[in-house]
Amino acid sequence: MTEGKSKLALLGGSKAVTQQERDMFTWPILTKEEDKAVLEVLHNRSMSGSDVTMAFEKEFAAWQGVKYAMGSSCGTGALHSAMFGCKVGVGDEIICPSLTYWASCLQAFSLGATVVFAEIEPHSLCLDPKDIEHRITPRTKAIVVVHYLGYPADMDPIMAIARKHKIKVIEDVSHAHGGLYKGRRVGTIGDVAGYSLMSGKSLAAGEAGILTTNDTEIYERAVAFGLYERNNANTMQTEALKPFVGLPLGGYKYRMHQMSSAVGRVQLKHYDARIAEIQKAMNLFWDLLEGVPGIKAHRPPQNSGSTMGGWYAAHGLYQSEALEGLSILRFTEAVAAEGAVCYAGCNAPLHLHALFNTCDVYGHGKPTRIANTDRDLRQPKGSLPVTEQINNHVYGIPWFKHYRPNYIKQQANAYKKVARYYKELLEGDTVKGVVEGSSHLSRR
Ligand SMILES: *Cc1c(COP(=O)(O)O)cnc(C)c1O
Repeated sequence: MTEGKSKLALLGGSKAVTQQERDMFTWPILTKEEDKAVLEVLHNRSMSGSDVTMAFEKEFAAWQGVKYAMGSSCGTGALHSAMFGCKVGVGDEIICPSLTYWASCLQAFSLGATVVFAEIEPHSLCLDPKDIEHRITPRTKAIVVVHYLGYPADMDPIMAIARKHKIKVIEDVSHAHGGLYKGRRVGTIGDVAGYSLMSGKSLAAGEAGILTTNDTEIYERAVAFGLYERNNANTMQTEALKPFVGLPLGGYKYRMHQMSSAVGRVQLKHYDARIAEIQKAMNLFWDLLEGVPGIKAHRPPQNSGSTMGGWYAAHGLYQSEALEGLSILRFTEAVAAEGAVCYAGCNAPLHLHALFNTCDVYGHGKPTRIANTDRDLRQPKGSLPVTEQINNHVYGIPWFKHYRPNYIKQQANAYKKVARYYKELLEGDTVKGVVEGSSHLSRR
């Protein structure tokens, strides 16, 4: 292709996106309300108190429609406490997808337990219910379900398997606050849920997390694990915990910082309205790209009662076979050159990482992954083929925070244009590299 003759910006053409609207991506949205709430905590010198956190917990529990919510200093702590709440302990196994962030499962090591990874579904990027049951052993204590990149995991069959085998289900809702699965809020379907409220997440309070459950024993065990000052003789109902009230059972302190609790309260108040606008914007983007070869939405079918919540770190699915095998790296490079948000890959699979293969974290004299159980359950390359290939089929898209059709159309046009003139890109497509993914998702 001769320079200048191409329509594609990457090959000298003009860009599809000419508008610059940075605030389309600014998150969280902050107003004077947060300023006031944070300064109040500061000047009350109550950063380490619990009153604002408990008010936030009450509002969060009401919003989710659950009995208990427990604030935590981070999502990692909330999920760690959830595992302890479910009695994940010495010699136990948890089943978890490999396509996620560390904190969905790695805390199991510190409880004396270990992790078995299961496969994902390529359309949802969430745990494949058909790949769980054969991995259950007498040691399996819990299944961790991640509503990955906002997509609600297929909870009905997963719950049926868990009930049949009498094991717990822990939902990791760090990507999907406010999302629905067949009309039900994600985070209320399993036995317990942990949510990150980190500032990059969809519900953003700062370094913070929260746990929700309807189960009194799980809740009280979670409290006793990391919130010793709330492990209180007057409120604890669980008999087994009563001799140990006031003690930090886990040896961890996971108290939520009250400046974050204050931010969380204000964010939560506006959250439903804000994600309704995000949903309208994101759905318009995908509606505009419906039927474009090579490009497929990562969202549940419309009118299924399932939604993407706040569309945390929105991504799309790539089908290179529809574009004569054009590599995802070349594709995303060309879309980005149009001035649109587009980048290849998502999380790197955990099961191939050294931390789950060779690393002896606690000095057992062998890798922790196998030291905590009685068999070598490591999963080498090739063991989870869908997960291992997925980074070549997933790309980040613009995560719109506002419904502005003209701007959204420009971004969608960049994708359409590349799919239309893709043949021009085949010639220079020498990269053919494999996208490795990253240990955490890029913040856009
Ligand atoms: C962010 C995240 C967590 C951990 O939350 P922190 O607040 O960062 O500790 C857990 N699971 C997933 C899937 C996440 O993306």
